Amino acid sequence: MNKFTKITASIGPKCEDRETLTRMIQAGVNVCRLNFSHDTGDAQGKKIDLIRKISTELNTPVAIMIDLQGPKHRIGNFETEEKYPLEIGQKFTFDSNPAPGDATRVYLPDTDVLASLRVGDRILLNDGKIEMKVESAAPDKVDTTVVRGNEIWSRRGFNLPDTEIDTSVLTKKDREDLEYAITKKPDYVAISFVQKPEDVAEVRDFITQRTSHPIKIIAKIERPNAVDRITDIAAAADGIMIARGDLAVEVPYAEVPAISRHIIRECRKMNRPVIVATQMLGTMINSEFPTRAEITDVSNAAYLRADSTMTSEETTMGINPVNVIDTMYNILAYADCDAITNPYDWSRVEHLPENDWSRSVASMAYLNKASAIVVFARDTITATQISCRKPDIPIIAVCNESVIANQLCLVRGICPIYDTELFGMRDAFNSARKFNINSGKLVIVDEDKISLRTLD
Ligand code: PGA
Ligand code: MN
Repeated sequence: MNKFTKITASIGPKCEDRETLTRMIQAGVNVCRLNFSHDTGDAQGKKIDLIRKISTELNTPVAIMIDLQGPKHRIGNFETEEKYPLEIGQKFTFDSNPAPGDATRVYLPDTDVLASLRVGDRILLNDGKIEMKVESAAPDKVDTTVVRGNEIWSRRGFNLPDTEIDTSVLTKKDREDLEYAITKKPDYVAISFVQKPEDVAEVRDFITQRTSHPIKIIAKIERPNAVDRITDIAAAADGIMIARGDLAVEVPYAEVPAISRHIIRECRKMNRPVIVATQMLGTMINSEFPTRAEITDVSNAAYLRADSTMTSEETTMGINPVNVIDTMYNILAYADCDAITNPYDWSRVEHLPENDWSRSVASMAYLNKASAIVVFARDTITATQISCRKPDIPIIAVCNESVIANQLCLVRGICPIYDTELFGMRDAFNSARKFNINSGKLVIVDEDKISLRTLD
């Protein structure tokens, strides 16, 4: 069965040993995500080395994605570790005083955030369980009224959906983490709480000033202002993650599916891979089986032709991470297969110009009922563009650089082969056979030459 949708797996305490990682990669992980909100420095470096080693041993390209924490906001400490109830209508103050908090106020450590808040802005604490509205705002103190009550305690995270926060997308911690991560030559860096295309440019500058290694940047979309500027952000970045965890706090939750569909469509137009993330198989943290809703959610990402689905705590903290990957694989493989039995609907690419080159490749494959497209990939661009036309057949990318093979692991339907020897026309046939494609027609793309050959 051909699976086109890729699997990005978050790697953490329950799956970072050699045996589990090996079994997960064998079970179909294409991208390993290392979340720097948790471990940093050498603890992450060791995992990167181990993943590279396993990938070489298994002769299976795997991409490594560093995920930076970004400006995730937290309140300060309270006098005690108890929970403080907040009732609807009650007043509560956030200020720049580092003294422990009480039932009426708490310290807000980030002065940029305090200064950015305006009257009427919402403050959503603890995944949105508490909502407050700003009544008066000064640079060192904001007074609020509780709109939705719950309990509050030390160091809770909060989201500010209405506030344009005038701060760098890279915190001091992110700069240190990135400085280290760069030395390990990751394939991707994901940046959290992106607000505008300039944020992506800032990270790109930071990276290119320090290395010539071609690290690609994934912008995580989890703020309303990022949703509003998705086209510009996709243009600035190399890929997008729909970070539904924070997104569903910052926008009304009912809008998340529509926003996801919109982002997937924009990414296709912009030739950018897109990852659907967070709580895809969340109940498998404690269960061997997904819920019906989770099965449907994962399959919908495949039907929408996203590039990758992602696991979060279900692999980092779950009871059986390998089973999570098997489960995700089965759901994606079935949906991908089912989707191609209902032939690709070409009306969905009608917004592309007739002379779009990658569209010609995909339509040639479609009209000739080709069994695969083989691309000699000297960079990631050509194969990615073809993938974004969603040809619904395997795209075999013959790569003579390992970083290109690794990076293409994220992109829908692409089967990368890394081999410095494979660059002749005959090799196109052999490469297809490696992926069990033994008959039918191949569309072969070598730079700007497109040809059609029959496999025998
Ligand atoms: P996080 O990102 O796990 O780093 O917060 C994903 C999300 O917000 O969905
Ligand atoms: Mn997030």
